[in-house]
Amino acid sequence: MTKSDGKWQMVKAAYVKKPFDVTFRDIELRPPGPCDVRLDVAACGICGYDLEIAESLANEPRPFGHEIVGIVREVGSAVTRVTLGDQVVLESGTFCCDCDNCRNGRVDLCNKGAGFGSESALGFAEGMISPSRAVVPAPDIDPLAAVLAEPCGVAIDMVRVAEIGLTDRVLIVGAGPIGLMALAIARRLTTGPIVAANRSEGRLAIARRLGADAVFSPRNTSVRECAAQYGGFDRILVTAPPQVIPECIEAAAYGAYVVFIGSDFAGGGVISLDTHALHFGKKQLRSSFASPALYLPQALHLLRTGAVPAADIVTHRFALSDLREALLTARERRDGACKVAVLPRED
Ligand SMILES: [Zn+2]
Ligand SMILES: [Zn+2]
Repeated sequence: MTKSDGKWQMVKAAYVKKPFDVTFRDIELRPPGPCDVRLDVAACGICGYDLEIAESLANEPRPFGHEIVGIVREVGSAVTRVTLGDQVVLESGTFCCDCDNCRNGRVDLCNKGAGFGSESALGFAEGMISPSRAVVPAPDIDPLAAVLAEPCGVAIDMVRVAEIGLTDRVLIVGAGPIGLMALAIARRLTTGPIVAANRSEGRLAIARRLGADAVFSPRNTSVRECAAQYGGFDRILVTAPPQVIPECIEAAAYGAYVVFIGSDFAGGGVISLDTHALHFGKKQLRSSFASPALYLPQALHLLRTGAVPAADIVTHRFALSDLREALLTARERRDGACKVAVLPRED
């Protein structure tokens, strides 16, 4: 196996400063350390968080992109898990195996593992360095499907937190990539009805293809009205802004769970809740936060087998030089855009 030759490698890497000011630099990647790998980036998905960085969070130019598929090009002297030419996906956060949480079997509570977040080039670059700890082999899958592995792990976490039963009536509020993937997984778990809510007709059409029994737009029907048709929902999965949560609690059946992910960096994270509805309705409000990034092998299996059909969700692809266009396409959902992928080696 070819180990690191200690040379610095030149790559083109993208940086962003708010609002949507994308620049490119030719930078030298440091040689991988003993436990690192160097990757060519085959594909990187645009996440809602990337859009937040580009729109409002980046005060200075910074590298970004964390939904990464790469090909291993160089390995450090201590790396044995992967070899040259292997296709891999990256965990955006990893556990350490060594702290009390990890040793007590709660790796899901540990984020102390070595990650790639502080590297000079991230997913929107031709190449990057990552600790091998964050690398998960992804053989026999198209990079344009594997690019969903990390967000699919987010959807898996949400579904696990929801503990969907065999006959549960499920409502999916918000049909972005996470909501749609959660829908596809939920379809495998319940024989009860699954209903999806979203403002976009295009997204609702995808939800139908992924197995939703019914769809509706909140422009025409309220969550409350929809719930009345089904006698309430047993599980409500919310990937929409937190403001919809109170209405979802109302729409939840006796004993139901409302599970949410998502944030509103513009201050919408603070809402008021009817705690009596929760208490006397035996309802639970649960949050899902897939950090560290677990379940990537399961996610790859779901994507590889088509249980989560990537081709319905990854709607657009762009070259690295068109990154700004790619970001705006995702932001404005141009041409029915759902998940937008960047292929840095396709320029
Ligand atoms: Zn993401
Ligand atoms: Zn740990």
